[in-house]
Amino acid sequence: MSTTAGVGYADLFRQDRSHPHWAHDYAQRLIERHGPERRVVIQTSMSPSGWFHVGNFRDTACAYLVHRALRRLGQDSLILLSFDDYDPIRPAQGARDPELTGYGGRPLGAATERSTRICRRYIAELKRMGICPPEADADGRVPAEFGWQTHYQHERYLAGTYVPLQRRYLRGAGKLGRLLGQVPEHLFSVYCEQCGRGGTRTLRLGRDRVRYACDSCGTLTTTRRVELVKPAWALDWTLRVTHERIDCEPAGQDHCSAGSTMDRTRAIYREYLRAYQPVIVPYGLVRQSTDTGKVSGSRGGGLTLTDLLRVMPPRLILFLYGRPNCLSDFRISLDFAPFVAAYAAYDRFLAQVRAGERRATALHGLIASEDADTGPQPGMRHVLGLLQSHCYDVDRVIALLGPAAAERVRHARAWLAAHGRCWIDRTVQEVPGDLPGGGDLSARWTRAWYRTLYLTLFGTESGPPLRRLTELFGRDALAAAVRVHAERGERPLRERVLSQLRPGDGDAG
Ligand SMILES: [Zn+2]
Repeated sequence: MSTTAGVGYADLFRQDRSHPHWAHDYAQRLIERHGPERRVVIQTSMSPSGWFHVGNFRDTACAYLVHRALRRLGQDSLILLSFDDYDPIRPAQGARDPELTGYGGRPLGAATERSTRICRRYIAELKRMGICPPEADADGRVPAEFGWQTHYQHERYLAGTYVPLQRRYLRGAGKLGRLLGQVPEHLFSVYCEQCGRGGTRTLRLGRDRVRYACDSCGTLTTTRRVELVKPAWALDWTLRVTHERIDCEPAGQDHCSAGSTMDRTRAIYREYLRAYQPVIVPYGLVRQSTDTGKVSGSRGGGLTLTDLLRVMPPRLILFLYGRPNCLSDFRISLDFAPFVAAYAAYDRFLAQVRAGERRATALHGLIASEDADTGPQPGMRHVLGLLQSHCYDVDRVIALLGPAAAERVRHARAWLAAHGRCWIDRTVQEVPGDLPGGGDLSARWTRAWYRTLYLTLFGTESGPPLRRLTELFGRDALAAAVRVHAERGERPLRERVLSQLRPGDGDAG
């Protein structure tokens, strides 16, 4: 542990657990530091190297929860979403992704279409989550009075937004290097004027110019275009914190350990900027059950908010992120058991809210509106069972459970369609034998006849009970479907059940 100025990095993990929710602790610290008049700025930042996944979202979720806690405590606050698209495209990534061919070493924002698509999707997801204001445009831009800002660093750097601070850092490179324990030349990297690639070698730092060598194109030159001189990550972060007056920022715990960015930059704030380091909200990993490591979008295959929003309401998603302490790791999975368990935990939580339990009420105040319905809901396991036995007929199940359950029934159907083990999908390749009396459904049936009936109607070995099928489709339609199969080998009811399970989807076989 560092002992500089009497505080070590472990201090970053300090929490006052007497608050009813951890977000209140960080909010309280911000209020004490800045007083009640200041509009607190909370940054959430990420680089668009791949689709943003449920791991990236923890950064924004933590920012949002502190923002809500501040508002509840009467403090004005604003979320600044920064897309760090002035970060370079790693060469390995440039080689792997066909869309990035030829872009290796250049800033992510230079691959404009790809970068825009990734960022816009995240903005759209945050709007659906109720986090980004609906008034924002597709790029997340909205007047500041809405409590939200979106920044694109590629655009801001190239527009010269940070040039005065970049010059200040160039002038102070000697001292900054001593504070960070680095050679001053390693504190900056230049995007080559000639070929646009980073990874240049900085040879000499001047007060307003930098001499560099580019191994990509062979240029050896001195540039006065300070906007191309990007401070190394830790320094870049302090630059933007200073420029935007950022007061608070969530950070993955790997950025908060000894020797990490958050640890090392403390000296910069103390000795050079003479300002507070923002209040850091350190957070743990989001894991997926099929995954032993952390979720990574650049590896592909990570769950995204879009995947979650198909099968869960926003407040349940926020509950999953707000329930564990931010310092803890947690797991998200859309497999059956964890999916049903997430709903069950949420239902228990709402029961605690109704009972006025202190911690549940505090969390609810952060994730839902004042007038949000907290009434009891049918359990997700029960809803899934009803959908299976009612041939995925959403309207019928809603009629059974009442209109308040409509959203849950639709999410259950979406989960079954994407992730569930559905009886209609368990087809067997077998020509069914004859049914008794040519399909007379009033006869007394044996097990074997039932099997034959399901094979005939659906191509499966089992399904909902016959009385349920009769109730859903009517006796005549069942008899007709049996005849159609005998005459033409078609299964109209199978088509109908599949279109109820996956509307707009043909029978994929
Ligand atoms: Zn070059």
